[in-house]
Amino acid sequence: KRTVGVLAVQGAFVEHERILKRLGVQVVQLRQASDLRKGFDALVLPGGESTAQGRLMRDLGMLETIRGLIEGGMPVLGTCAGLILLAKRIDTQNGDGSTVDAQHNSTWLATLPVTVRRNAYGRQLGSFRVVEECAGCGRVPMTFIRAPFVTQVEVGVEVLATVNEHIVAVRYANQIGLSFHPELDTNEALHQAFLSM
Ligand code: GLN
Repeated sequence: KRTVGVLAVQGAFVEHERILKRLGVQVVQLRQASDLRKGFDALVLPGGESTAQGRLMRDLGMLETIRGLIEGGMPVLGTCAGLILLAKRIDTQNGDGSTVDAQHNSTWLATLPVTVRRNAYGRQLGSFRVVEECAGCGRVPMTFIRAPFVTQVEVGVEVLATVNEHIVAVRYANQIGLSFHPELDTNEALHQAFLSM
């Protein structure tokens, strides 16, 4: 039976756990460094607060190991905050609307060669739901909660979905990053696509 490790230091990990179990896979919660030795074939990084998650991963001594697993080819699904943790760069918007890229610091995984903008939809439009096409999954519901979107992708990154001309789903080899929360909807297509990697 396949086992998926779900990062469980903060955020919406229970919802991922529920949908994964419904799809017949075993789940281990990754709460501390020793959990990373439990044996799992794939990794989920849930939504939540990326700053808190990144700090916790670093302080709990999990960050380097998780980065190593991803760089070693383990399939990983990052949703929302999870996408932010995967991204190699974040873009910071200046007051005049221009942006600068900033390299992530030591609390980020930085394995996915894209630039993300945090809280990209602003405060008012922070949360909304649409149904849109996602490559390989058909039309899927997409729930956005104070979501980031991708502002730039490097060569080799496949764009899986765009909403209002903003990139909200990407794949790069073994890594899938989503701006939205498939674990909050009943549609299982994205988790299935992830499990088939
Ligand atoms: N705004 C959060 C962050 O920047 C992400 C929100 C979410 O995961 N729903 O980390």
